[in-house]
Amino acid sequence: MSDRPGTTTEWLDRYQGSLLNLFGRPQLVLEHGDGAWVWDVDGKRYLDLVGGIAVNALGHNHPALVAAVSKQAGQLVHVSNFFTSVPQVELAERLLSLAGAPAGSKVFFCNSGAEALEAAIKLARRTGRTGLVAAEGAFHGRTTGALALTHKPAYREPFEPLIPGVTHVPWGDVDALRAAVTEQTSALVLEPIQGEAGVRPGSSAYLRAARDLTREVGALLVLDEVQTGIGRTGTWFAFHQAGVVPDAMTLAKGLGGGVPIGALVTFGPEVSTMLTPGMHGSTFGGNPLACAAGLAVLETIAAEGLLDHAREAGEHLQQRIGDLQHPLVTGIRGAGLLQAITLGGDHSAAVAALARDAGFIVNPVAPDAIRLAPPLVVTTDELDLFVDALPGLLDAAAAPASTTAEDHR
Ligand code: PLP
Repeated sequence: MSDRPGTTTEWLDRYQGSLLNLFGRPQLVLEHGDGAWVWDVDGKRYLDLVGGIAVNALGHNHPALVAAVSKQAGQLVHVSNFFTSVPQVELAERLLSLAGAPAGSKVFFCNSGAEALEAAIKLARRTGRTGLVAAEGAFHGRTTGALALTHKPAYREPFEPLIPGVTHVPWGDVDALRAAVTEQTSALVLEPIQGEAGVRPGSSAYLRAARDLTREVGALLVLDEVQTGIGRTGTWFAFHQAGVVPDAMTLAKGLGGGVPIGALVTFGPEVSTMLTPGMHGSTFGGNPLACAAGLAVLETIAAEGLLDHAREAGEHLQQRIGDLQHPLVTGIRGAGLLQAITLGGDHSAAVAALARDAGFIVNPVAPDAIRLAPPLVVTTDELDLFVDALPGLLDAAAAPASTTAEDHR
């Protein structure tokens, strides 16, 4: 298959000799994929239930994405921001329409989730205030601005001092929000479902309270839909299920189906004119290649009915896990195809390692939670393959001599 032969071990040794050690030794050397399946360089096949961490919305090698990227690559890959291109304008229009954003709403394109948060932070600064409120457990990225909003001390502390003025409040606690969101607050930044914290949904009531409180004090409500957006939870955006309209939304991950692209969407004319020419920019942001990929993703999600499918497949998974009656499974939480199976003990790393040996890619997002964020094209039969294997994996993981693996994002 590969035109550059070599075993997994050989490639991993070369990886360690040449790449900065930020992720530990990778688990696999992947070579190609098809739908929800990937193959490593040794020819072993895996069911990919992580999808590049909620990125490969259309799975691997989807003909629509391949065709769109190939066509655009043969036409125009990049233009500077002195110019625009048809895919850029079309993608912005499509996003605004799918978001149901009011007239006067706008889009800024960048290349990643963290960059979308950086743009949101600069937008917030334009209120003239410097306070920012985020939630405990939040993950908003690793660039130094976004990192100030990310909660995990191990990610933040080596780089402090970060931008000042950030308060982290307990997740889901309306009283804590009320105390923290004041007239000094520029923006409250929340994920509708905290992904990296272990797939922890915010209730609709919580998100509505966030909307009301920010409105009362004149702060922006920024919803970080980098992980939850683009159909992942069964609607185009998770905020659609909560019945709130944010002032701004950040996107990335699924938007390009694997081609790097991020976006900041600003809602309404007032917020959409706070950043003015020269205040922000990106060389690659909104390039025609990434935007053509984004359009193909959005068109294919609509054409293949993947919103309904994500919702139904998520319900199917919840039902099947609920029916398992395994002593180590305590529950399942999430929405659509962003779910975490919760365990009665810190077994997730061992389960993920055993699952990999058995041909399943899952993510031990927390010591006691296994995250599934598969391609939206995954079938319920494919999900069942994993559910059927899970009791055996759990039994093996709980056995005294089980393997453990550390997960580095
Ligand atoms: N925001 C959320 C909610 C995320 O889940 C992530 C990544 O996991 C980010 C932001 C950062 O995105 P990126 O890794 O593309 O910078």
